[in-house]
Amino acid sequence: MKLSILELQNNHPLIDKKFRHQQIRDFVFKKYNLDFTGISTLPKKMRERLEQEFVICPLKEISRITAADQTTKFLFQLGDQVQIESVVLFTKNQQTTFCISSQCGCRMGCQFCQTGKMGLVRNLTCSEIIAQVLFLANFSINNQLIQPDEHFNIVFMGMGEPLDNLLAVKEALHYLTHPDFFHIASSRITISTCGMLDQIEPLLKDFPKIKLAVSLNSAIDEKREQIMPINKKFPIKKIAADLTKIYGKYGNRITLEYVLINDFNDGPEDWLALKEFQHKAFHINIIPFNDTNNLESKKLRPSESRIKRFIKELEDIGFRVSRRYRRGSEIQADCGQLYWKNKTS
Ligand code: SAH
Ligand code: SF4
Repeated sequence: MKLSILELQNNHPLIDKKFRHQQIRDFVFKKYNLDFTGISTLPKKMRERLEQEFVICPLKEISRITAADQTTKFLFQLGDQVQIESVVLFTKNQQTTFCISSQCGCRMGCQFCQTGKMGLVRNLTCSEIIAQVLFLANFSINNQLIQPDEHFNIVFMGMGEPLDNLLAVKEALHYLTHPDFFHIASSRITISTCGMLDQIEPLLKDFPKIKLAVSLNSAIDEKREQIMPINKKFPIKKIAADLTKIYGKYGNRITLEYVLINDFNDGPEDWLALKEFQHKAFHINIIPFNDTNNLESKKLRPSESRIKRFIKELEDIGFRVSRRYRRGSEIQADCGQLYWKNKTS
């Protein structure tokens, strides 16, 4: 079996000269090449041996689908037939963002989320996490969506709960931020968690400048517990206290993601309850519920006027609020819509 390119070491017999190792790394992690054939500066024999012994991108593209707004969703197969999804999307200010998966499925059981309905199939490895970035960067450059040296953002908002696979995610962050590898600024990387509070400090201790987003979705314990089982372990008061402490220590503003669900968490008691989080540490990101392609779920998205009212009420209280606009929802590539349909087949 081939080794991951991450396992190529300086003392490998292939590395004949001192600069070779970095030359190969640059070709892969800074130029986003997915195979060795294009490294024209390497002797042919060396390229062939690399090809035989190492794999750069352990993902097989099964399908891709592009929405009118250019959002493109990929379905990849991993070595053991497991499939995951990743998305390239463009934010309002034309920034390219890669939404990547950290697990196939998720065991956190949030009621509103398609990935949650799958349960956990398995954790992804570091090399599978990184491969998504390599693939999406290669795709974006080849399709002239970004220039070869243009920056992009990474959000761990695809399938899975990143803090439930912390070791592999931290290893991936090491390669994503390290100057010899991708060298992406931590401020361009967001980890989104459903609120595994005990895993935040172990993450930030090593990556203090990484952006943190916490899926809150309600500031009322009874309601949050109904839709997010993790609330039993980490209730609202603890979330507010721990996150405020974390802000005090690391100084990075924390985004509170709030999936707005019609007639459930979008009324006066809901915006008033959010006062618990009235602190300069927080910024609220409203995500109007994305339907999951059936009539029942369509009813869960609030009307435009309800969405606007909720945002205005929060602004009046004094919150900084942003709204996540739909990206590629007609191709089921939006928040909470990622799903591997063949899971049980
Ligand atoms: N497990 C992590 C990251 C993946 S989910 C987390 O929960 O934060 C990414 C975001 O999609 C989360 O903020 C989640 O609340 C949101 N989401 C899930 N299902 C959704 C849906 N049906 N509509 C809108 N957003 C949804
Ligand atoms: Fe998992 Fe996040 Fe979906 Fe909850 S919202 S089930 S934590 S992927």
